[in-house]
Amino acid sequence: MLELKGVCSFYGKIQALYDVCLTVDEGEIITLIGANGAGKTTTLMSICGIVPPRKGSVVFQGEEINSLPPDKIVSKGIVQVPEGRLIFPRMSVMENLDMGAYLRNDKSEIKRDLEYIFELFPILAERKNQLGGTLSGGEQQMLAISRALMARPKLLLLDEPSLGLAPLVIKQIFEIIKKINETGTTIFLVEQNAHQALRIAHRGYVMENGRIVLADKAKNLLANEEVKKAYLGL
Ligand code: ATP
Repeated sequence: MLELKGVCSFYGKIQALYDVCLTVDEGEIITLIGANGAGKTTTLMSICGIVPPRKGSVVFQGEEINSLPPDKIVSKGIVQVPEGRLIFPRMSVMENLDMGAYLRNDKSEIKRDLEYIFELFPILAERKNQLGGTLSGGEQQMLAISRALMARPKLLLLDEPSLGLAPLVIKQIFEIIKKINETGTTIFLVEQNAHQALRIAHRGYVMENGRIVLADKAKNLLANEEVKKAYLGL
Protein backbone atom coordinates (compact mmCIF):
# COMPACT_ATOMS: atom_id res chain seq x y z
CA MET A 1 0.00 0.00 0.00
CA LEU A 2 2.78 2.42 0.97
CA GLU A 3 6.44 2.21 0.07
CA LEU A 4 9.29 4.53 0.98
CA LYS A 5 12.28 4.03 -1.29
CA GLY A 6 15.61 5.60 -0.36
CA VAL A 7 14.01 8.63 1.28
CA CYS A 8 16.39 11.43 2.30
CA SER A 9 14.84 14.44 4.03
CA PHE A 10 16.37 17.66 5.24
CA TYR A 11 15.65 20.70 7.38
CA GLY A 12 17.60 23.32 5.44
CA LYS A 13 21.12 21.94 5.31
CA ILE A 14 20.59 19.45 8.10
CA GLN A 15 19.87 15.94 6.93
CA ALA A 16 17.31 14.17 9.15
CA LEU A 17 16.59 11.02 7.11
CA TYR A 18 19.13 8.83 5.32
CA ASP A 19 17.97 6.41 2.66
CA VAL A 20 14.83 5.31 4.51
CA CYS A 21 13.15 2.27 2.98
CA LEU A 22 10.00 0.74 4.40
CA THR A 23 6.71 -0.80 3.34
CA VAL A 24 3.22 -0.86 4.78
CA ASP A 25 0.83 -3.50 3.44
CA GLU A 26 -2.90 -3.05 3.38
CA GLY A 27 -4.49 -4.14 6.67
CA GLU A 28 -1.31 -3.97 8.72
CA ILE A 29 -0.32 -2.06 11.83
CA ILE A 30 3.29 -1.03 11.30
CA THR A 31 5.21 0.65 14.06
CA LEU A 32 8.30 2.80 13.81
CA ILE A 33 10.18 2.97 17.08
CA GLY A 34 13.29 4.85 18.12
CA ALA A 35 14.72 7.30 20.61
CA ASN A 36 14.11 11.05 20.79
CA GLY A 37 15.33 12.77 17.66
CA ALA A 38 15.82 9.54 15.69
CA GLY A 39 13.73 10.88 12.82
CA LYS A 40 10.35 9.22 13.43
CA THR A 41 8.28 12.39 13.13
CA THR A 42 10.28 13.46 10.10
CA THR A 43 9.41 10.13 8.45
CA LEU A 44 5.71 10.87 8.96
CA MET A 45 6.16 14.43 7.70
CA SER A 46 7.89 13.08 4.61
CA ILE A 47 4.98 10.74 3.92
CA CYS A 48 2.32 13.42 4.32
CA GLY A 49 4.12 16.06 2.28
CA ILE A 50 5.00 18.54 5.03
CA VAL A 51 8.72 17.78 4.75
CA PRO A 52 8.96 16.49 1.16
CA PRO A 53 11.91 14.13 0.60
CA ARG A 54 14.82 15.67 -1.27
CA LYS A 55 15.81 12.25 -2.60
CA GLY A 56 13.98 8.94 -2.99
CA SER A 57 10.28 8.35 -3.41
CA VAL A 58 7.05 7.72 -1.54
CA VAL A 59 4.63 5.48 -3.40
CA PHE A 60 1.03 5.09 -2.23
CA GLN A 61 -1.24 2.58 -3.97
CA GLY A 62 1.05 2.51 -6.96
CA GLU A 63 1.31 6.29 -7.34
CA GLU A 64 4.31 8.44 -6.51
CA ILE A 65 3.06 11.08 -4.06
CA ASN A 66 6.27 12.74 -2.88
CA SER A 67 5.79 15.84 -4.98
CA LEU A 68 2.12 16.35 -4.06
CA PRO A 69 1.08 19.06 -1.58
CA PRO A 70 -0.21 17.87 1.84
CA ASP A 71 -3.91 18.50 1.08
CA LYS A 72 -3.73 16.33 -2.07
CA ILE A 73 -2.08 13.58 -0.03
CA VAL A 74 -4.93 13.76 2.50
CA SER A 75 -7.45 13.45 -0.31
CA LYS A 76 -5.66 10.25 -1.45
CA GLY A 77 -6.53 8.75 1.95
CA ILE A 78 -3.43 9.36 4.09
CA VAL A 79 -4.40 11.17 7.28
CA GLN A 80 -2.11 12.07 10.14
CA VAL A 81 -2.77 12.50 13.84
CA PRO A 82 0.11 14.78 14.80
CA GLU A 83 2.14 14.58 17.99
CA GLY A 84 0.71 16.76 20.75
CA ARG A 85 -2.81 16.15 19.43
CA LEU A 86 -3.41 19.68 18.04
CA ILE A 87 -7.18 19.69 18.29
CA PHE A 88 -9.02 22.99 18.02
CA PRO A 89 -9.27 24.02 21.70
CA ARG A 90 -11.99 26.65 21.27
CA MET A 91 -14.23 24.46 19.20
CA SER A 92 -16.61 21.90 20.64
CA VAL A 93 -16.00 18.17 20.26
CA MET A 94 -18.67 18.10 17.56
CA GLU A 95 -17.13 21.03 15.66
CA ASN A 96 -13.71 19.36 15.82
CA LEU A 97 -15.20 16.23 14.31
CA ASP A 98 -16.92 18.24 11.57
CA MET A 99 -13.52 19.73 10.67
CA GLY A 100 -12.22 16.21 10.06
CA ALA A 101 -14.90 15.67 7.42
CA TYR A 102 -14.42 18.98 5.62
CA LEU A 103 -13.24 17.37 2.38
CA ARG A 104 -16.36 15.18 2.24
CA ASN A 105 -19.92 15.84 1.15
CA ASP A 106 -21.51 12.40 1.59
CA LYS A 107 -23.82 13.42 4.44
CA SER A 108 -25.37 10.05 5.26
CA GLU A 109 -21.95 8.35 5.32
CA ILE A 110 -20.60 11.11 7.56
CA LYS A 111 -23.48 10.44 9.96
CA ARG A 112 -22.63 6.71 9.94
CA ASP A 113 -18.98 7.46 10.68
CA LEU A 114 -19.99 9.70 13.58
CA GLU A 115 -22.04 6.86 15.04
CA TYR A 116 -19.04 4.51 14.65
CA ILE A 117 -16.79 7.04 16.41
CA PHE A 118 -19.21 7.50 19.28
CA GLU A 119 -19.30 3.71 19.65
CA LEU A 120 -15.49 3.61 19.78
CA PHE A 121 -15.30 6.57 22.15
CA PRO A 122 -18.55 6.84 24.16
CA ILE A 123 -16.94 9.59 26.26
CA LEU A 124 -16.88 11.86 23.20
CA ALA A 125 -20.60 11.36 22.67
CA GLU A 126 -21.19 12.39 26.26
CA ARG A 127 -19.07 15.47 25.77
CA LYS A 128 -19.92 16.48 22.26
CA ASN A 129 -20.77 20.07 23.22
CA GLN A 130 -17.73 20.56 25.47
CA LEU A 131 -14.86 22.72 24.20
CA GLY A 132 -11.91 20.64 22.96
CA GLY A 133 -9.42 22.55 25.11
CA THR A 134 -11.25 21.59 28.31
CA LEU A 135 -11.01 17.83 27.69
CA SER A 136 -8.45 15.72 29.58
CA GLY A 137 -5.25 14.70 27.77
CA GLY A 138 -6.61 11.23 27.02
CA GLU A 139 -9.91 12.61 25.76
CA GLN A 140 -8.06 15.07 23.52
CA GLN A 141 -6.07 12.19 22.05
CA MET A 142 -9.31 10.31 21.42
CA LEU A 143 -10.73 13.41 19.76
CA ALA A 144 -7.62 13.84 17.59
CA ILE A 145 -7.87 10.21 16.43
CA SER A 146 -11.61 10.59 15.85
CA ARG A 147 -11.17 13.76 13.84
CA ALA A 148 -8.72 11.92 11.60
CA LEU A 149 -11.17 9.02 11.23
CA MET A 150 -13.83 11.47 10.04
CA ALA A 151 -11.70 11.92 6.93
CA ARG A 152 -12.12 8.16 6.23
CA PRO A 153 -8.41 7.40 5.97
CA LYS A 154 -7.14 4.39 4.08
CA LEU A 155 -3.87 4.83 5.95
CA LEU A 156 -3.85 6.43 9.39
CA LEU A 157 -0.55 7.92 10.58
CA LEU A 158 -0.27 8.22 14.35
CA ASP A 159 2.54 10.22 15.96
CA GLU A 160 3.16 9.17 19.57
CA PRO A 161 -0.46 8.79 20.62
CA SER A 162 0.61 7.70 24.12
CA LEU A 163 2.72 10.78 24.84
CA GLY A 164 2.03 12.30 28.25
CA LEU A 165 -0.88 10.02 29.11
CA ALA A 166 -1.47 7.92 32.23
CA PRO A 167 -0.78 4.15 31.91
CA LEU A 168 -4.44 3.18 32.00
CA VAL A 169 -5.37 5.67 29.32
CA ILE A 170 -2.42 4.49 27.21
CA LYS A 171 -3.71 0.93 27.43
CA GLN A 172 -7.14 2.10 26.31
CA ILE A 173 -5.72 4.11 23.37
CA PHE A 174 -3.69 1.10 22.13
CA GLU A 175 -6.74 -1.17 22.38
CA ILE A 176 -8.72 1.30 20.29
CA ILE A 177 -5.94 1.56 17.68
CA LYS A 178 -6.12 -2.23 17.35
CA LYS A 179 -9.90 -2.07 16.97
CA ILE A 180 -9.67 0.65 14.31
CA ASN A 181 -7.25 -1.58 12.41
CA GLU A 182 -9.57 -4.58 12.74
CA THR A 183 -12.37 -2.60 11.11
CA GLY A 184 -10.21 -2.13 8.02
CA THR A 185 -7.91 0.88 8.46
CA THR A 186 -4.20 0.40 7.84
CA ILE A 187 -2.06 2.00 10.54
CA PHE A 188 1.43 3.45 10.68
CA LEU A 189 2.26 4.11 14.31
CA VAL A 190 5.24 6.11 15.51
CA GLU A 191 6.01 5.45 19.16
CA GLN A 192 8.58 5.83 21.89
CA ASN A 193 6.47 3.44 23.92
CA ALA A 194 8.03 0.53 22.06
CA HIS A 195 6.63 -2.23 24.21
CA GLN A 196 2.96 -1.31 23.79
CA ALA A 197 3.42 -0.46 20.12
CA LEU A 198 5.10 -3.78 19.31
CA ARG A 199 2.39 -5.68 21.16
CA ILE A 200 -0.31 -4.46 18.78
CA ALA A 201 1.75 -4.17 15.59
CA HIS A 202 2.27 -6.82 12.90
CA ARG A 203 5.73 -5.58 11.94
CA GLY A 204 8.10 -2.94 13.20
CA TYR A 205 11.03 -0.80 12.12
CA VAL A 206 13.71 0.57 14.43
CA MET A 207 15.19 3.95 13.62
CA GLU A 208 18.49 5.40 14.83
CA ASN A 209 20.01 8.70 13.72
CA GLY A 210 17.76 9.01 10.70
CA ARG A 211 18.35 5.45 9.47
CA ILE A 212 16.32 2.25 9.66
CA VAL A 213 18.59 -0.17 11.52
CA LEU A 214 16.25 -3.10 12.05
CA ALA A 215 13.05 -4.42 10.49
CA ASP A 216 11.15 -7.52 11.56
CA LYS A 217 7.90 -9.02 12.71
CA ALA A 218 6.77 -7.28 15.89
CA LYS A 219 7.02 -10.47 17.94
CA ASN A 220 10.62 -11.01 16.83
CA LEU A 221 11.52 -7.42 17.76
CA LEU A 222 9.96 -7.93 21.19
CA ALA A 223 12.27 -10.92 21.68
CA ASN A 224 15.35 -9.26 20.16
CA GLU A 225 18.08 -8.78 22.78
CA GLU A 226 19.29 -5.44 21.39
CA VAL A 227 15.77 -4.07 21.16
CA LYS A 228 15.06 -5.28 24.68
CA LYS A 229 18.11 -3.48 26.03
CA ALA A 230 17.76 -0.26 24.07
CA TYR A 231 14.01 0.25 23.85
CA LEU A 232 12.15 -2.02 26.22
CA GLY A 233 14.11 -1.25 29.36
CA LEU A 234 14.71 -4.97 30.01
P1 ATP B 1 10.83 12.76 18.98
O1 ATP B 1 10.42 11.47 19.51
O2 ATP B 1 11.63 13.55 19.97
O3 ATP B 1 9.75 13.56 18.33
P2 ATP B 1 11.73 11.91 16.40
O4 ATP B 1 12.30 10.55 16.28
O5 ATP B 1 10.33 12.11 15.97
O6 ATP B 1 11.92 12.43 17.87
P3 ATP B 1 12.37 14.04 14.59
O7 ATP B 1 11.44 15.01 15.25
O8 ATP B 1 11.96 13.47 13.31
O9 ATP B 1 12.69 12.86 15.59
O10 ATP B 1 13.79 14.72 14.45
C1 ATP B 1 14.86 14.19 13.68
C2 ATP B 1 15.99 15.20 13.61
O11 ATP B 1 15.58 16.34 12.85
C3 ATP B 1 16.43 15.72 14.96
O12 ATP B 1 17.83 15.84 14.93
C4 ATP B 1 15.77 17.07 15.06
O13 ATP B 1 16.53 17.96 15.84
C5 ATP B 1 15.74 17.51 13.62
N1 ATP B 1 14.58 18.40 13.36
C6 ATP B 1 13.29 18.10 13.56
N2 ATP B 1 12.49 19.14 13.22
C7 ATP B 1 13.32 20.12 12.79
C8 ATP B 1 13.12 21.45 12.30
N3 ATP B 1 11.90 21.96 12.14
N4 ATP B 1 14.22 22.16 11.96
C9 ATP B 1 15.47 21.63 12.08
N5 ATP B 1 15.72 20.39 12.53
C10 ATP B 1 14.67 19.64 12.89
